[in-house]
Amino acid sequence: MKFKVLGSGAGIPSRTRNTQSFVLDVVEEINQYFLIDTSEALQHRILDTTIRPSKIRHVFITHLHGDHILGLPGFLSSRSHQGGEGIPLIVYGPPGLEEWIETTFRTSGTHLNYAIQFVEVGNGDVFDIEGFKVSVQLLDHAIDSFLYVFEEPDKPGALKSDKLREMGIKPGPIYKQIKSSKTFEHEGIIYNTCDYVSAPTAGRKVAVHGDTRVIRHKDYLDMLEGSDLIVHEATYLHGEQEKAHLYYHSEINDVLFNLSQISYGQLLFSHISNRYDAEMVRLVEEQLPSGIKLAHDFIEITIPRDSQ
Ligand SMILES: [Zn+2]
Ligand SMILES: [Zn+2]
Repeated sequence: MKFKVLGSGAGIPSRTRNTQSFVLDVVEEINQYFLIDTSEALQHRILDTTIRPSKIRHVFITHLHGDHILGLPGFLSSRSHQGGEGIPLIVYGPPGLEEWIETTFRTSGTHLNYAIQFVEVGNGDVFDIEGFKVSVQLLDHAIDSFLYVFEEPDKPGALKSDKLREMGIKPGPIYKQIKSSKTFEHEGIIYNTCDYVSAPTAGRKVAVHGDTRVIRHKDYLDMLEGSDLIVHEATYLHGEQEKAHLYYHSEINDVLFNLSQISYGQLLFSHISNRYDAEMVRLVEEQLPSGIKLAHDFIEITIPRDSQ
């Protein structure tokens, strides 16, 4: 599982930062990509990667500000001609998204050659996507903006074949039968399967924020607890906490302090304003503790199992 940054900027694109688009690469797990936010130039960014649009089956929109959605109509339209024919797509997002896309397609005469479904999201929604649990939480922004938390299912433990061999049970279809039932019988004795299977591996958890003020309530922090990767905005990189609050955004040190109350694996700050020059960004990066990074376009973060 990997997290790829296609756009790390805030508000307005710069030469080095596109506005917000991310990809959660779950190709190894379920052979597809989750696309999160769809800024302008998303298509061009994708062309500079090995990502195939046909493998994007689920899109998650955090909120309807232009720097997060203006690339969606173009992406959806091009996908028809980039191997996406007949491969359905589901778009999750706030109310109003479907209406905007329908209007854009109607007025521009755009037709798709695959089925598209829009799912309106709201606070507290939970979706099951091919075994992944996706939870939605309302954030605190000038318009409704959402956090998406992606949780991979736990991986069942492996059969302890050494132990079974010692008992005289040789490998074969019987192993599959043992694994799929709670108990098994051998030479007239009933055994509990759990004693012959190693502990399951915990699934990974990735939390991706839309634009937001720092949120301090317990339910929100509980939702983030134990994340392997948290992606949070840091529109303000240095001081100006009051200004960040006024404009419904976050200041980096305030986020760090807030998240210090929970345990997590890695933290990635994105939505970086182009008011900060490269030198300033470098200075901030130098001071970040290990496991905490500032996003740049095209960086990729590997999310190992048991990263905490
Ligand atoms: Zn934004
Ligand atoms: Zn916004």
